[in-house]
Amino acid sequence: MTLLLDGKTLSENIREEINRKVKAITSKGYREPTLAVVLVGNDPASHIYVRNKRRACEKVGIKSLFYHLPENTTTLELLDLIAYLNSEEKVDGILVQLPLPKHISQQEVILSISPRKDVDGFHPENMGRLVARIEGGFVPCTPLGIDLLLKHYRIDLKGKDVVIVGAGFIVGRPLALLMLWRDATVCVCHIHTKDITVYTKKADILISATGVPHLIKGDMIKESAVVVDVGISKLGDKVVGDVDFESVKHKASAITPVPGGVGPMTITALLLNTLQAYEQNMGLKDVGL
Ligand code: NAD
Repeated sequence: MTLLLDGKTLSENIREEINRKVKAITSKGYREPTLAVVLVGNDPASHIYVRNKRRACEKVGIKSLFYHLPENTTTLELLDLIAYLNSEEKVDGILVQLPLPKHISQQEVILSISPRKDVDGFHPENMGRLVARIEGGFVPCTPLGIDLLLKHYRIDLKGKDVVIVGAGFIVGRPLALLMLWRDATVCVCHIHTKDITVYTKKADILISATGVPHLIKGDMIKESAVVVDVGISKLGDKVVGDVDFESVKHKASAITPVPGGVGPMTITALLLNTLQAYEQNMGLKDVGL
């Protein structure tokens, strides 16, 4: 029987836990955790992501402040807003929805967010902490969500061959570091890999994050592999992943569905990072809450 790695149910359970924690803290007279969400322009997919993130915040008691800037916002104008949010004591986390319009320097924007409020974990200081395994930083949400999912299902990573298809800086690269810290042997494939099947067939745990619909087929995986599908693409009206679920599901020992696998875990990881930012900002860890 193939095990379905149910990110939706696990997310609901973790979010209830977060909600309980927030209630316990605010009932002691502390203000609520606050996340500033910045969206530039009118990309429809980004609007949906932002709406889902804000709804998830509200449900667990995290206040979300929404800054929607027009498409023609300049880099300087966006940096001004971020400087204000960095300095605002009541803002614990800052999320700038990517991708930004092409004329805005994404690099400058990422660098400008205070590492202490960088709940997406993209600032080089947080990426560096992930390399050096220094506590107190933020791990990017999708890798963190996948790690929590694998941990929940007790999927042992020690000494296992983890193959990641996709080397993007949001998912593939930080995930490779995290998997290394879990003592896995990690291999990362990308668009220039000569033949990804050579690697995918060796994977005990195969994680695909390319955005190419149905890239991973049943004949590309090892018998009983664990398959994690990060991809989100539209195929007609349907949302599909990188994995051809139908041909893979009978061969894999465990698999994430799309939707309902990694997606909800990513948002849950954002909530956890925001709670961490809040606790650090308020010095709550020290008062034992
Ligand atoms: P990206 O564009 O930064 O990286 C894509 C990577 O895939 C690149 O390294 C590229 O070389 C590789 N790639 C592309 N085509 C390939 C192919 N045919 N064979 C091998 N490698 C190939 O993208 P990203 O931001 O890392 O996102 C990847 C996918 O994950 C997208 O579908 C995105 O929507 C999805 N995503 C999902 C979540 C979630 O919560 N489920 C979160 C973030 C991203």
